[in-house]
Formats: sequence, structure tokens, C-alpha cells
Amino acid sequence: MKHVLIVSKAEKLEEYLQIAKEYHVSFEINDFFNAKLLDDEKEIENVITMYKKFGIPKNSTMHGAFFDLAINSSDAKIREISEFRMAQSMEIASRLGVKGVIFHTNYNPDIPGEMYKQQLIDTLVSYLAKLLKQYPNIDIYMENMFDKTPEVLEKISKQLQEYPNYGVCLDWAHVNVYGGLHDEWGKSLYPYVKHIHINDNDHTADVHLPLGKGKIDWDEFMEYYYKYFKDSSVLIETNDPQHQRESLEYLKDLLQGKDTRLYNSKAEELLEKIFYYMNELTIEKDFSESVLLLTELGRTLVNADRTSFWYRDVKNNSYWTMGASGTGRIVVPKGQGIVGSSIENNETILINNPYQDTRFNPQVDKETGYITKSILCMPVTNSCGDVIGAYQAINKIGSFGESSFCEQDKNRLALAAVYSGKLLEAHLLRVQSRMDALTGLQNRRGFYEYYENYILLPKKEQEKSIIIGDIDYFKRVNDTYGHNAGDKVLQHVSNIIRECVHDAGEVFRWGGEEMIVLLPGYDLRQTRELAEKIRITIEQSTCVVENNNIPITMSFGIKQIEDELTLEENIKAADENLYEAKKTGRNTVIG
Ligand code: GH3
Ligand code: MG
Ligand code: MG
Repeated sequence: MKHVLIVSKAEKLEEYLQIAKEYHVSFEINDFFNAKLLDDEKEIENVITMYKKFGIPKNSTMHGAFFDLAINSSDAKIREISEFRMAQSMEIASRLGVKGVIFHTNYNPDIPGEMYKQQLIDTLVSYLAKLLKQYPNIDIYMENMFDKTPEVLEKISKQLQEYPNYGVCLDWAHVNVYGGLHDEWGKSLYPYVKHIHINDNDHTADVHLPLGKGKIDWDEFMEYYYKYFKDSSVLIETNDPQHQRESLEYLKDLLQGKDTRLYNSKAEELLEKIFYYMNELTIEKDFSESVLLLTELGRTLVNADRTSFWYRDVKNNSYWTMGASGTGRIVVPKGQGIVGSSIENNETILINNPYQDTRFNPQVDKETGYITKSILCMPVTNSCGDVIGAYQAINKIGSFGESSFCEQDKNRLALAAVYSGKLLEAHLLRVQSRMDALTGLQNRRGFYEYYENYILLPKKEQEKSIIIGDIDYFKRVNDTYGHNAGDKVLQHVSNIIRECVHDAGEVFRWGGEEMIVLLPGYDLRQTRELAEKIRITIEQSTCVVENNNIPITMSFGIKQIEDELTLEENIKAADENLYEAKKTGRNTVIG
């Protein structure tokens, strides 16, 4: 439900404010249709001051004057006073700063004749148009009272719909006492309804009972609400604070789906969304895009404002977001924040008051201006049960606009979290299977895949080249300083090559102390320059292992890849150049 409102009056303002705070609802101020008050300037000031002092909840409205109003009267004096009262309502509303004002049509369907009806419609339209123009920042909602059908409201609305601040206030209690077929009201007025009044009665008199205490079928109401009016705000129109609480609880139950019909329709909607995302996931091949789809799925499942998927980067002692709806990548150091607690302790954390929780780190909010109101964070594990990340949802969007997660959300979010875990595990395994554990370079499997995707697949006319490098006299390093030192040298050399190549291509460990660089887009001249740069950087670098400064050089064979040759033939040609480099004294580039 978009916004829920309760009636407020100055006399019990503190009590109403308490309810508004507890239930996250707004007010429909009901002080200003009392004629006695409207004729007492001083008292009007007092009431406005009081509201301003205590603060009016956002999205509040005000009920405008309506008793005895007859702006269509043939009596000019009555017309004048009616217009005066409506103008007075708008003026007070503008001073209060409320979102909208509600007036009644005051149409009496028992007065016969088309003329009366038409004249009422015409006068209402022309006077309302004047007010709508005069107060463009205040909505005006026209409410049905004794109307037996939506006809009059529909006719008025058709003529006023061009005003963005015009809307209908559908009083569902009035419909149940005076109105005919319920569906007809929805069908005729759904384009115009922006606000709804609800309270209970026994279908015979407009007695404003708490919800559930009369004979109105609220299951039916909910059905219509979601069918026709789901963007409308809803006022529970009972004055007594206790009745308001009862009604709010009743409405909450209806909204939370205890009512089976609503629950089923919600569940159906949810299932549709799950199927949609699952289908998208089967088509999507890209890991990052899949992660994004999964964060969207999680957001939908628990109705959160934001969701994020965190990777546990063990190597760098940090966590970072692999996919996040609504924000860019965030990195946090190991152990920090709710994600840190969730990952390190392998536990699901649900908190609805983060600022009072010592685990919560408010720094990100401070930097971004976002306000975290509730968090649901669960660890994500691989098939062995090791925690490899976390899935987090922030700020539940509740039925009354409030924000708290419940136990049920844990189960729902788990669907997206578990799937994310499987996806991440598969991704990590895939990356690992293509990576050389010692140097962090890609291995042969990675090489073949890269060759396929970046050398064979792209446009034929693009230049592409290969560098094969081999460390000179590497056996001696092992023999002199030991195998561990040899490993360190391999890492040292790999890092230099990776840095020199940067994003010009990809570096692979071909075997032993032999590396290959694939350079899509590089011609032979560019390749020679790059190989030369690598050679000099290695030669001039210092590789210190256990206080020994180990001198290293490397020989290179280069080759521009020919499309006509096979992969093996191209490599063989490059390899021959490398052999040549070795033969002619090493520490050189041939090709
Ligand atoms: P050249 O200049 O002709 O290339 O001489 P070289 O000594 O570098 O070549 P050779 O092929 O004779 O020796 C390569 C050595 O690399 C032999 C092998 O033990 C060592 N090696 C291969 N893989 C590793 C490794 O992962 N770690 C260490 N420490 N040594 C390795
Ligand atoms: Mg009403
Ligand atoms: Mg060698």
C-alpha cells in the first residue's frame, strides 16, 4: 500500500502522533470542517501552530469543509459562503503544507432530474478548476458521499483530469452504504482515484466502525484495491485512537497476506518474477550480468530497496561487492561491518535498528547520505560449506512504508543467496582451472580459450602477435639458490611481464620457465617494442631472495600471427625465433 493515513485532531494530537510513529502512517487532519472553528480566526491560528509545533507526518492530507456546502445552489448567498469555505480550506491547507485536500460532491441522487445533476457537475468543475489552478502544489480529491453510482464523479473527473493535482477520493464505506455494484466504481473511476477512505459499517448507515467490526467484505476490498487502485493512499477513517490501532492491525494482517486470497495472488506474482529471473539466468552467460540478475531477484523476493552480493577476498583481506543493485562497487576490510560479522561467524544477521548495533558501520551511510534502516545479511558457502561471500538486503519496503525484515524474509532471500553461492563457486573454479597457482598467470587451458576468443574469433584483418619468452640459465638458479628461490624468480618475472603487458593482451605460463604473451591488435613493430621493454625491465630489475640478489635475463621469440597458419604452426614459428635468441647469446628479442 502506498501510504496509509489516520484521522488526526488537535485535541488528541500527541496520541495520534504516537500511532503515526509506531505504524509509519500519515494524517488526514480533521479539524478544519468544523464551522465553529472556521469562524474563529484565533482558534484557527492556535490549531495550525500546534500542528506545526509537533510536526505533521509527510504525505498528510486535510479534510476540507463539506457540511451544508452547496456551491450549485440557486441562492447566491449560499453559493458565496460555500465557495468561501472551500477557499478557506485551501488556504489553511497551504499554511499547513499538506499534500491534498478532500471535498465531497454533496450530490444527492434522490433529487430527480438531469438538470440538477448537470448543474452540480458544471458548477463543481468550474470552481474546482479555479482552485486547482490557484493551488498547483495541493491535490484536490473529490469524494463520493450519497452517490449511488460513480456517474457524477466520473463526469467531473473527465473534465478535470488535465490538472495533475486533481484526483478522486473513493470512500469505500460510502460505497457500501449508498453505492451500487462495487466493481462498477472501480471500472469507472480507476484512472482518477488517488486516495481512498475506509472504515467499517453494516451496509445501512455510515457509522465509521473500526475495520473488521462491521459487514464490509475486506477481502473483496483488497482485491479491488490491487486491481484498480494500487497506487492510491488509504485513510482509515475512524477518530478514536484505539479504533485506529485495531484497524491498522487488521489492515496489516490483510496486507501481510494472512488472508488467503491476497496471499495467493501475491505468491503467484512472486512466482512469475522468480520464473522470469530464472529464465534470464539460463540465457545469460556473463558472470557479472548473472550476479546482477541474482541481486535483482533477491531484491524482489524480500521487497528490499537494495541488495548486494559480496565476495570474500581472502588474498587481500577484504570483501567487495560483485554485484549490487542501486550502488557501485564497495570494498570493506576483513571483519568489518555486518557483512564482516556474517562472513567471519558464518551466520545470518537480521537487524532492524542498525544504528543501535555495534556491528554496523555507519561510515558508508555518512559518505553517501543513504540511511540504512534494516539489514538482512546471509553468508554464502560453496559445496564444502566454506564461506565464500555474503548476500545482503538493505531497507525492507514494508506495507505501510516502514522498514523491517522478518523471519520469512530469511527463507526468501536464501533462494537468491544459495544460487549466487553456486554461481560464484562455479566461477571461481572456472577461473582457478585456468590459472597457474605459482605465478597467478593463466595456464594452457586459459591460453587455448583466449586464443579462440580473442585471436581466432575477431575480424580477420586485425593484426595480432605472439611473444614467447624463456628465462636464461634458469637451471642454474635452482642449482645455486635452491628450488624455492627458483619459484620466487618465476613469480618476479611473471609480475614484470604482466605489468608491462597491462591490458594490451594476456600473459600465460606455457610451461616451466617459459611464458607466452598473446597480443590482439598488435603488429610486429609494436610487439618488438613491448618484448624489448619486458627484456630490459627484467634485466634491470633486482630479484632479492634470502639476501641474494639474483641476476635474471630472458630471451624472446616474437611472431605476427598468420590467419592461414594453425595455432601450433604460429607457436612453432615463434618458438624457432626463441631458439635463435638462445643460440645467439640470450637476453635478446628475435623475430
Ligand atoms: P636456457 O637458458 O637454455 O633456457 O637454460 P635453462 O637452464 O633455463 O633451461 P633448462 O630447460 O635446462 O632448465 C629449465 C629449468 O627450469 C629446469 C627445471 O627444473 C626448472 N623449472 C621448471 N619449472 C619450475 C618451477 O616451477 N619451479 C622451479 N623452481 N624450477 C622450475
Ligand atoms: Mg470519507
Ligand atoms: Mg630457460
